[in-house]
Amino acid sequence: MSEPSIFTRILGGEIPSEIIAETENVFAIRDIAPKAPVHLLVIPKREEYRNVVELAAGDPDLLAELIGLASSLAAEHADGDFRLVFNTGPNAGQTVFHVHAHVLAGGLEEESLGA
Ligand code: 5GP
Repeated sequence: MSEPSIFTRILGGEIPSEIIAETENVFAIRDIAPKAPVHLLVIPKREEYRNVVELAAGDPDLLAELIGLASSLAAEHADGDFRLVFNTGPNAGQTVFHVHAHVLAGGLEEESLGA
């Protein structure tokens, strides 16, 4: 068994971070190092999928649930428009291997495509 991910530890209350929204299977927090006026992370509660490719293949309904929460949060925290980023693999900047979407919104710079 590997160590629980940082997001599992946040969900369990072991590391402090406000859970700003949740549905049955996903939850959302604010990114600790925001790259946009609104920068949230939407994360499945279970960490069995390491990245979005595995998630899409293994549980498309869960991916849809995650995107639904991202959309609701963009409407709640900004004007409803948002950029959804899944860094996939270390060479693309992924540092936490528990799949998560970056939700970027609220006055985005054209050039800041990454998260
Ligand atoms: P990745 O680099 O894997 O795409 O995204 C991981 C994200 O998690 C980074 O944007 C990083 O700022 C965020 N992060 C890492 N540790 C913590 C933490 O303890 N709390 C919160 N709220 N965000 C974190």
